[in-house]
Amino acid sequence: MAFRVHFVLLVCATVLFHTSCSAARRNHVAHTQSIPSSEGGVTAAPAPYPAKPLVIIDAGHGGTDEGARVHTFMEKRITLTTAIMTKKLLEERGYKVIMTRTRDTYISLPRRVSIANKTKAALFVSIHFNASHYQNAKGVEVYFCDSSERWRASASRRLANCILYQLIDQTEASSRGIKGGNFHVIRETEMPAVLVEGGFVTNSEERALLSDKEYLRKIAQGIALGVDKYFKS
Ligand SMILES: [Zn+2]
Repeated sequence: MAFRVHFVLLVCATVLFHTSCSAARRNHVAHTQSIPSSEGGVTAAPAPYPAKPLVIIDAGHGGTDEGARVHTFMEKRITLTTAIMTKKLLEERGYKVIMTRTRDTYISLPRRVSIANKTKAALFVSIHFNASHYQNAKGVEVYFCDSSERWRASASRRLANCILYQLIDQTEASSRGIKGGNFHVIRETEMPAVLVEGGFVTNSEERALLSDKEYLRKIAQGIALGVDKYFKS
């Protein structure tokens, strides 16, 4: 989550996860169709997906922006580790991947958006970890871009469902559902976009899991499989 304080108030789940990726797919408007805009006109149809779609992987925080922190445990470190793992797994599946940061550097939110929009990527996935005053709070949640552009909101919701389903399958973590989000990086990007919250650093059990690279690999695998399901289902 895009917070710099150590603990933040928990936002209660508003949309519980109850639809599978394929179920969401049935309700999805085909990506290449012309789609009525919210003004009643017709938006330009997005181009068909290329053979090797380009995916932006955004490791949250970095540099002076530590993200959520408990003692010496910093969100910015595990977002980068998970992002690097996700990139590798996606590339093994034939995807092109660009990361918004590859080191412990500060990258502004507009810069992250600019990287995604200039490359005309097919998808944008931001990786974060959660924090709460409630130390019992735990689980995984995925925010999707709730854009006024209906095709992008619909595609983002479907991507969120695909990723959450695979994340839970891989990690066996609690599901907190998918939720519409108004975060800068998923609001201002021009492609389907989601923000993954891979667990709570403020929950001692989850923090122990998040300290284990093998567990982060399961999260990365969940994200990669979710992206793959999005394109192939
Ligand atoms: Zn964050």
